[in-house]
Amino acid sequence: DRPSTVSAMFETVVNAVADGPALIDERRLSYRELDVEVSAIAAGLRAQGIGVGDRVAIFLKNRWEYMAIVLACIRIGAISVPVSTRLQKQELEFILNDCGAGILIYEDALSEILPESASTPALRHAYSIEGRISPSFASLLLPDEPVDPVPADEEDAAVILYTSGTTGRPKGAILTHLGIVHSAMAFAQTLCLTNEDRALIAVPMSHVTGLVGVMFSILSVGGSAIIMRESFERRAFLELASRERMTFSILVPTIYTLIALHSDLNNVDLSAWRIGCFGGAPMPTATIEALGAKLPQLVLVNAYGSTETTSPTTIMPISDWRDNMDSVGKLVPCAKVRLVSDDGRDVDVGEPGELLISGPMVVPGYFDNPEANAKEFVDGYWRSGDIGTMDAGGFLRILDRKKDMINRGGFKIYCAEVEEILSHHPAVQECAVVGHPDPVLGERVHVFVQTREGVAGDSADMKAYCAARLSDYKVPETYNFLDTPLPRNNNGKIQKQALRAILANAEG
Ligand code: ATP
Repeated sequence: DRPSTVSAMFETVVNAVADGPALIDERRLSYRELDVEVSAIAAGLRAQGIGVGDRVAIFLKNRWEYMAIVLACIRIGAISVPVSTRLQKQELEFILNDCGAGILIYEDALSEILPESASTPALRHAYSIEGRISPSFASLLLPDEPVDPVPADEEDAAVILYTSGTTGRPKGAILTHLGIVHSAMAFAQTLCLTNEDRALIAVPMSHVTGLVGVMFSILSVGGSAIIMRESFERRAFLELASRERMTFSILVPTIYTLIALHSDLNNVDLSAWRIGCFGGAPMPTATIEALGAKLPQLVLVNAYGSTETTSPTTIMPISDWRDNMDSVGKLVPCAKVRLVSDDGRDVDVGEPGELLISGPMVVPGYFDNPEANAKEFVDGYWRSGDIGTMDAGGFLRILDRKKDMINRGGFKIYCAEVEEILSHHPAVQECAVVGHPDPVLGERVHVFVQTREGVAGDSADMKAYCAARLSDYKVPETYNFLDTPLPRNNNGKIQKQALRAILANAEG
């Protein structure tokens, strides 16, 4: 009797808690009011010719309209494509074309990032959310035309979320109705969320953690979402959390570390904060201990997941967290994992292996990308590229990763994407990007560059070059210039381990 589509889930909560607060932002909306907004957007999109399976791109910061647009698309069977507001023009252009978005709704302040209309042929209209540039989002709305939900199957696509890839080309993971409902309920059940809970969204709603982990989880129980508009800033976060009496959030470890390290928590009232879930990157045990001492009522639970698993694969059960701080928790219901050695053998309990993941939350694949699908989705399992161990009690630990990726405070950077951009710089003969350990962010982006003969490397120039083409967090922060070739193994592959060792030695 549980809903298995997002529309059914939403309808259930609107009926159950119509006057309960759904979204807390510059405007506060009850579930009933949200439902009215969803309908007006859905009718407007439909009048613009958007229908079943069509894509609508969302280039917005966190704001209440975000959720209304996602739900409106779902209501008419269309697929929303949330994209990060940190993208630069050519990244956004790639995604708009890759998904073939017919409509884009964008943040006025980001209008300069929008690609020229000639380079995005499928895009018919772009609406500015605040209406400072015409046409406005308000002009899209049709408030007096109620829209009944288009029937959906649980395996239908509901949202497409882009992740970077090993080849440097972003891939659109297809989130299904069932995947979203399953993930939302897994969080809600494991963390005992109710309609009394108030979840703060301080991570971007364009990522799976903000959208599914926090937003859809709290929506599934009819609780309230407190929306933090701007990117994370410690004081603003603490002030909002205290004023709106946050009970729950999912944040990246960097945020917890900043709170634990720098906050005098005596000046803010965080007594309502019950559950602090974290994920996206490993969290130093010292942070958990420091926060535990400052906020004794707070339960800190790790969750491991990815865009391809519609957020969680494992969540730490509330009762187990203190004794298992180095673990990412236990599998969500109906999930299965295999841990596989390099030679394809299933490893024994406690032995490390690459995690292959299957279950209702795993996406069916990437949008229009048979190559990546053939490589990453094998025999019903998604290859995560993460190395972990499973103990006899079912607790998973993440030890390392196989994929060539940097994790900068929870933001993922595929080295190949940065290398591809920088390799076009006129001074660059060859380059290799590696993670540089950092106490707060986990890792930062470092690059080794072999310059062309007779050309000196200029890091300021290369930074500017990358910043014009890549999201800010992907831009290499530190540089090593070499006039010799980068170290390679016998197969001709650049040896990143050797480069990391050079970096570590240089710092003594
Ligand atoms: P978001 O980017 O929305 O925060 P996410 O980090 O869960 O979501 P991805 O960007 O797809 O999703 O990154 C997934 C990768 O992040 C995993 O494959 C793993 O390498 C790393 N990761 C996620 N959760 C954890 C965790 N709890 N501990 C350690 N590493 C994690």
